[in-house]
Amino acid sequence: MTHDITLKLADEQATLKLGADFARSLIAGVNVYLHGDLGAGKTTLVRGALNGLEFFGKVKSPTYTLVEPYQVQINKKMTNLYHFDLYRFMDEEEWEAAGFRDYFNPHSICLIEWPDKAGSLIPLADIDVYLELSGEGRIARLIANTTAGKVCLEHYQES
Ligand code: ADP
Ligand code: MG
Repeated sequence: MTHDITLKLADEQATLKLGADFARSLIAGVNVYLHGDLGAGKTTLVRGALNGLEFFGKVKSPTYTLVEPYQVQINKKMTNLYHFDLYRFMDEEEWEAAGFRDYFNPHSICLIEWPDKAGSLIPLADIDVYLELSGEGRIARLIANTTAGKVCLEHYQES
């Protein structure tokens, strides 16, 4: 059983592919934290994930909006997928006012860049993804923390 996956990503294509393969393993209700410095490839991974779920529209980095909502099919069901980038997050009241709390529910999937910026406002991660620079490429590590997260990583399969 694989609850901890490490992969070498030689180029952007490899990050997109990991995103796509990973996305196909996701189930509704999971929360994924994306860790790594600026430029590590977090947004690229999300773009790959959305492409893997057959969303081929534009994927914008939600740098100023904090979140970008998408609708994707997960196990044949329309599911809300929220891509957060909390790099510029600073106001806890804004979190409540914007209704972000409701984005975390058993029917949605949340992929979160810079989760630490919102402290304890965000529910804990089912899966932590760490991206790190390594030469010209990247190293990715996926770690499941919960039963739901483990179920996903067990289903993870390279296409
Ligand atoms: P982040 O969201 O973590 O700040 P981005 O996803 O915006 O980072 O990616 C920053 C840059 O890294 C992009 O130009 C992207 O093409 C590049 N990149 C992504 N994955 C890889 C990789 N595995 N190897 C080399 N470059 C990559
Ligand atoms: Mg980003």
